[in-house]
Amino acid sequence: MKSKIIRATAASNQIRIFVANTTEMVDKAQNLHKATPVAIAALGRTLTATSIMGLMSKSEKEKLTITINGGGPIGQIVTVGNPKGNVKGYVSNPQVESTNLYPGKLDVGSAVGKNGTITVTKDLGLREPYVGSNPLVTGEIAEDFAGYFAFSEQQPTGVALGVLVDVDYTIKAAGGYIVQVLPNIDEETVARLEDRLASLEPITSIIEKKSTPEEVLDYIFKDLEPTILDSYDVDFTCDCNEERLEKALISIGEKDLTEIIEQDKQAELMCHFCNKKYTFDEEHLKKLLQEATKKK
Ligand SMILES: [Zn+2]
Repeated sequence: MKSKIIRATAASNQIRIFVANTTEMVDKAQNLHKATPVAIAALGRTLTATSIMGLMSKSEKEKLTITINGGGPIGQIVTVGNPKGNVKGYVSNPQVESTNLYPGKLDVGSAVGKNGTITVTKDLGLREPYVGSNPLVTGEIAEDFAGYFAFSEQQPTGVALGVLVDVDYTIKAAGGYIVQVLPNIDEETVARLEDRLASLEPITSIIEKKSTPEEVLDYIFKDLEPTILDSYDVDFTCDCNEERLEKALISIGEKDLTEIIEQDKQAELMCHFCNKKYTFDEEHLKKLLQEATKKK
């Protein structure tokens, strides 16, 4: 089943809701990164939120980059999304040791750490990108996104994100929701929504049992009379290519490039997002050196 996100409203347009099933997307990330359970849980939660935030974009050109840096052993989590909901991402240390809070519950917060920030960059291709940053709340990712929305965007938001990793490290289920209340909402509806979200079992249990976003929406928000507005197929896709890495090599400059040619006679670069390897032989590097020299 393709990963899918639905957009809905509820309570007479006073609430907007995104519900995601990203099992395939996170499994694809896992195939590329071969991460430990706690690392793919952290990355998968961030990818799911990034995909939803991409769909929230008001411009077709927006490039969304999210960086979470909590000082924990996982290092940095970096994800990139676009307005179609497609994403890519990586963590610095995918082999971070996987520990549990209790049996069956991965300790994502300890791996990520909470001494740091979540930073959201929205680049519209204009001169100055929007950059919003907020201190991490727990390092568990969902709370950190909720904190970002509340303080950086002044938007009260409920976020739940989950990744269920199987014993063979494949992804059994992944997904979540982001729910936002609009400014005109009445207090009674807010109270009903808060009660409902507080009474829910963990999101991983819900997405394990309900396979489609429609079922999850209905299960969680039924009493608030949701209406589905849109449905999107989303995926993990990397847009790296040789040209981009050529530019990276040219940018290291004449001196370093000459050194690589003389000492190694080749360069091997790897894309962080998909682990694809690009090899540049001596002849290719000499061409790039000419360009670097021209640019001086
Ligand atoms: Zn790539």
